[in-house]
Amino acid sequence: SNQANYTGRFAPSPTGPLHAGSLVAAMASYLDAKASHGRWLLRMEDVDEARTAAGAADSILADLDALGMHWDGDVVFQSQRGAAYEAAFDRLGRLAYPCGCTRREIVDSRICVAADGAAVYPGTCRSGLPVGKPARAYRLRVPDPGHIDELIIFDDRWLGRVQQHLAIEVGDFVLKRADGYWAYQLAVVVDDAEQGVTHVVRGADLLDSTGRQIYLQRQLQLATPQYLHVPVITNADGEKLSKQNGAQAIDMTQPLQALIKAAWFLGLDIGQVESIAAFWPLATAAWANLEATRPS
Ligand code: GLU
Repeated sequence: SNQANYTGRFAPSPTGPLHAGSLVAAMASYLDAKASHGRWLLRMEDVDEARTAAGAADSILADLDALGMHWDGDVVFQSQRGAAYEAAFDRLGRLAYPCGCTRREIVDSRICVAADGAAVYPGTCRSGLPVGKPARAYRLRVPDPGHIDELIIFDDRWLGRVQQHLAIEVGDFVLKRADGYWAYQLAVVVDDAEQGVTHVVRGADLLDSTGRQIYLQRQLQLATPQYLHVPVITNADGEKLSKQNGAQAIDMTQPLQALIKAAWFLGLDIGQVESIAAFWPLATAAWANLEATRPS
């Protein structure tokens, strides 16, 4: 393959500095792009300004640079892409509808709880806002039984065949949030398409979102990229390492050590390595090798 048919990306949320968990996702997407001689883009997922930490985007970029992970083109900031999300939202027409439910009302309806612990939306406002309720969020109608997209099925390059029944496992999902921010699902789909992303490589914590994203791509007539979800580092309680549960920033006084640990977590055998410059070609070869041995 060559540049023209592989475009990958790393899309961190700048809620804090790069940590061991985000480095694994960054490394996997970077290596996959390099092994395919493709492009590797960088996108800052800063739609949610309330969660964005001052200086986090700059610190992530500086760390990637120091780790020898150089991106192609300009960094895209989701906070500047509101017009594109609005246009996509408008194209969804009546598939999107206003919802007046509070989080509490959805949880209390106790219809069902999804795998990730979130309540499945019971469809309360599907056929119109209840009298006297203002619109809070906007949701996308998921397919009814018998619809061609009732079951979303895709072949993950790491996990194999994955399927999700959106109506049962997710319910009508949010496109525009009650706080006015565009939802992650919509922003990612619009940006992956606009940036020409052909291969999405990210943590398995996002596996639950992929069905929603594929469904949205289909409704917006956008191409579906190939997906590969890598295992995520968890803490002693089995939770994904994240800024929220206290993940430590990478120790940038020992950048090579950080790279070696992340590669080890991905199952890459790279042997002895003395420098960052020497690390990347070895890691890329090891990734390509792992790829070749994966059953397909
Ligand atoms: N911004 C998301 C995160 O940091 C990743 C989005 C993606 O890779 O699709 O969890």
